[in-house]
Amino acid sequence: MASRFALLFTLLFSSILFASPAKLKSLEMGVNRLILHFDRTFPKENVHSFILKGKDSFRYVFDLKNTRLAGKKLTSKLHYGPSIRSIRIAQYRSNIVRLVVETPEPYAVAHYPLQSRSYIIVLPKGSSDFSTQIRGLFSGLQSKTGRKKAPLSHKAASRKKTSKSRSDAYRAASGSHMMKNPPPKAHRRYTVIVDPGHGGHDTGALDPTHRYREKDAVLQIALRLRNHLRKMGFNVVMTRSSDRFIKLRRRTHFANLKHGDVFVSIHANAVGRLSRAATAHGIETYFLSPARSERARRVAAKENSIAFIRRDSKTMNSFISTLTRSKIILSNMLALDVQRSILGTLRRRYRNVTDGGVRAAPFWVLVGAEMPAILVETGYITNPWEKKRLFNPRYQDMEAQGIAKGIVRFLRNREREME
Ligand SMILES: [Zn+2]
Repeated sequence: MASRFALLFTLLFSSILFASPAKLKSLEMGVNRLILHFDRTFPKENVHSFILKGKDSFRYVFDLKNTRLAGKKLTSKLHYGPSIRSIRIAQYRSNIVRLVVETPEPYAVAHYPLQSRSYIIVLPKGSSDFSTQIRGLFSGLQSKTGRKKAPLSHKAASRKKTSKSRSDAYRAASGSHMMKNPPPKAHRRYTVIVDPGHGGHDTGALDPTHRYREKDAVLQIALRLRNHLRKMGFNVVMTRSSDRFIKLRRRTHFANLKHGDVFVSIHANAVGRLSRAATAHGIETYFLSPARSERARRVAAKENSIAFIRRDSKTMNSFISTLTRSKIILSNMLALDVQRSILGTLRRRYRNVTDGGVRAAPFWVLVGAEMPAILVETGYITNPWEKKRLFNPRYQDMEAQGIAKGIVRFLRNREREME
């Protein structure tokens, strides 16, 4: 009887939890995009959008289902440029928030969720006002342009860093005015830090036979990634290119010293219990953030403990709390682009390429990186067939190619936002 009550209570409680509306806490103007901050991850299915054409304006309407506004003056602090007439928001129904973006010209609208409890609504070019653009230029990957050995002309580099001169500098670097499909040599000024996990006495994860070792697979994939990126014209720096041990802290410290624009750590996954070895497989990409799922916590614990550092979660949390939201969002976007690209590339040739998803997790190796940083779990070394793929040269090469293309997609999208 008691257990029946417990069941009823659980059902009732979970249905209440499920139905409780998401809270829209704040709005933030990014570079040509609007960032909505929720109290939880907000799914795309909950957004119903449509366009109303007026006489001389276009209204892009977004109805956010099962949502409550946390405050009344969310839009009062938004500053936008001339390509936006207005941005309005209201509690339209008791559980629907309506957001309306009015523009003088039509544009290709897009919207998508991020795992960092944010939701992005893409705005037309010229949406951000001057101060937002400046902040965009000096945050994340734009911050170190001047310090690098970039093939910019002196004239282009010494101009004021407005978004306009940024694209001028970009043109100077690429030697082309074709902004849509920049030639590969335009990538030369970006530095990608490639970090093969583990090495030396730290073997990383092992399969049950101990013949397949994570440190070997990830080094091979990372070296292939380096080759692909170099062919594309990137400057590539490896944290290790041979079988040697490097402390976690040294890796990001090194990345910062080398002024990396992007940090990619390459790992392979493993199950804790061997009974799950035959079934667990798939590819996952992580960005640094407090863990929000048991699975993310488990993977982070595995990678963190293997590196023989003992620090409590309190220290980790204080590190994470110093991360700015914009930095988390950039890493989240990088993770999405890379994950999507790996799957797309591998699926052209292989079956059963499983999407383990993009996840937030507290990895020590990503702490302290001053650039967008991700960790790719390239597959399960404990899985009998996936481990063979991880050591197959062709599979390794395609996975590396997928990662490289994802990095290009991420950087190109950031460039476009600066146009
Ligand atoms: Zn690892």
